[in-house]
Amino acid sequence: MINTMNDMLCPVCGRSTDNQIDGRCRDCFLKTITLASIPLVVRTIICPVCADVKKGKRWDKLDKDFEELIHDVIVQALKINPQAHDVSTSITLTTTNPAIYRAQITVTADVKGVKAESQLVTEVRISKETCDACSRMAGGYYEAVIQIRAERRFPDKDEQQQMLELVGEVVERQYLRGDKLSFITNIQELPEGTDVYLGSNNTARQAVRTAVERFGCRYSESPSLAGKKDGKDIYRITYSLRLPRLVPGDIIRVGEDMVLVRRSGKMTTGINLESGLEFSEHTDNLKDSHKVSGVEEAGNAVVVSMEQDTVQVMHPSSFKQVTIKKPAHFTGTAGEDVRVILIEDRIFILPS
Ligand SMILES: [Zn+2]
Ligand SMILES: [Zn+2]
Repeated sequence: MINTMNDMLCPVCGRSTDNQIDGRCRDCFLKTITLASIPLVVRTIICPVCADVKKGKRWDKLDKDFEELIHDVIVQALKINPQAHDVSTSITLTTTNPAIYRAQITVTADVKGVKAESQLVTEVRISKETCDACSRMAGGYYEAVIQIRAERRFPDKDEQQQMLELVGEVVERQYLRGDKLSFITNIQELPEGTDVYLGSNNTARQAVRTAVERFGCRYSESPSLAGKKDGKDIYRITYSLRLPRLVPGDIIRVGEDMVLVRRSGKMTTGINLESGLEFSEHTDNLKDSHKVSGVEEAGNAVVVSMEQDTVQVMHPSSFKQVTIKKPAHFTGTAGEDVRVILIEDRIFILPS
């Protein structure tokens, strides 16, 4: 064998080489390095309830598809030689069992100017563990109670249903925003209303505020000591949420007037049934005004005749002709039926 000027002999294998790396030929150099390694088995933990992934002590949202997660787990478990540059990795996954993925990994890189390649295999095993939030939910954990009530009356079924829907809406929104404790632990129906137990006090507060805006509710809150955690007192908050005393359709007496309530929050608005004019008053000033009837009590009466300021209708039970002041909203004509309501021997035409 004739060596040219540039050729040297590899001290390890004795073959001639034109380029020594670390004092040996390319093949002998590659034998001295480990380009990449990975344990034979890699594990990842997933919550079977919410599919969150455990990372160290934390639980993270699974915000990618499952195979991408397996790829990430492999890439994190790979140990690449620190001398490697321009590393590229390709992974082929096969699975016969949803809890086990087999991976064939090819790593290529440049090490000291030599192109190196490494073939690895590993198995990714997915184990299940219920995350902290899901265990709390299963354990009946709660930070807050919303008591759905009404001011000086019992809320009816529809109202309670509406409030439950509102709470459910806020619970879902806050969960999607990342509050993992945003769940309903328990719903208790009571004669005076409904109690909703919530995992997250923050969600409870948001729900209560929404109820105030949307339904004109009032609320008060009271903390109670629930125990200690890491030496700190843990409080649960009870929100007593009160629906307005007056609801649309109620007819209340305000002085000598009868008012059909359209809306009641901080202000109560409606229609003065005798004049047909708009009514508006601070609810606080209506403490002495009680419901005397409601639109559900209305019946039909025939309009007999009309004059400038009066209407004659046939009384629905005595069938006598009664003359009443024509309310501003009245648009009927003789012979037609109108909705009327009888309150204490007086007859009022309801707006249509
Ligand atoms: Zn060699
Ligand atoms: Zn979970």
